[in-house]
Amino acid sequence: MKLAGKVAIVTGAASGMGKAISVLYAKEGAKVILADLNSEGAEAVVDEIVSNGGTAKAVKVNVAELTDIETMIDTAVSEYGTLDILVNNAGIMDSMEPVGDITDEKWDLIFDINTKSVMRATRKAMPIFLEKGKGVIINTASTGGLNGAHAGAAYGASKHAVVGLTKNTGFMYAEKGIRCNAIAPGGVETNIGSSIKNINEFGASRTQRAHAVMPRMGQPEEIATVALFLASDESSFVNGTVITADGGWTAAF
Ligand code: NAD
Repeated sequence: MKLAGKVAIVTGAASGMGKAISVLYAKEGAKVILADLNSEGAEAVVDEIVSNGGTAKAVKVNVAELTDIETMIDTAVSEYGTLDILVNNAGIMDSMEPVGDITDEKWDLIFDINTKSVMRATRKAMPIFLEKGKGVIINTASTGGLNGAHAGAAYGASKHAVVGLTKNTGFMYAEKGIRCNAIAPGGVETNIGSSIKNINEFGASRTQRAHAVMPRMGQPEEIATVALFLASDESSFVNGTVITADGGWTAAF
């Protein structure tokens, strides 16, 4: 097993990619803290993991709240004694608004959930990783964090910021045994569409131009295998970078 004895936290673990990552990590021997606002959904995934012989615990977390983030990291330590792998995966879409139509409130909401949470969880985990001289951080960015045509202004900017934070963290702690990488998924079949409220028709029509050349949608399990590679020692020399997993979509740009 590739993650035997490791302790992992996965945010946004009740659904989509976070769920698939949690299930795969547990199968590979990790003890997993499943953090999600949807605690019922997270509990259901824990039940699935435990019934297959794995070890996992659900924690109700709003990643936009500092105290929730801190409780999440503290729970890993109190339940399983340490933290080895932090997967900052929770995220929501905007409504495809271009900059002319974005409100301050929407911008702040998207950044609090998609970006600030990544900084806060990584900051809180860092003393644990520094003390051990070892640690892995994996951030779910997006191809929208590398290109301008996938969603609205706020989502694209929030994911570009995650890419920047990933690179900075990877470099800063490179000599401390800590690795930080991001995954940039293309279109993946999950429940993220339910976070799109009152879609902006103009913005959506612009993104359609880019979406039209997507070869196919991915499955969450196809992202989980990338997250397993990044969490395991097989990626020991991979640090401060972004792995795109999009079936070839953004090779077109
Ligand atoms: P999903 O909606 O299926 O899962 C996201 C999970 O995050 C849900 O369980 C939700 O309850 C949780 N969540 C949302 N807001 C939260 C909050 N404030 N606090 C705690 N949990 C919260 O979506 P997904 O597609 O699996 O999304 C996972 C990540 O992948 C996101 O960061 C998303 O931006 C990114 N992403 C998705 C796609 C795609 O096409 N699906 C593409 C690129 C990147």
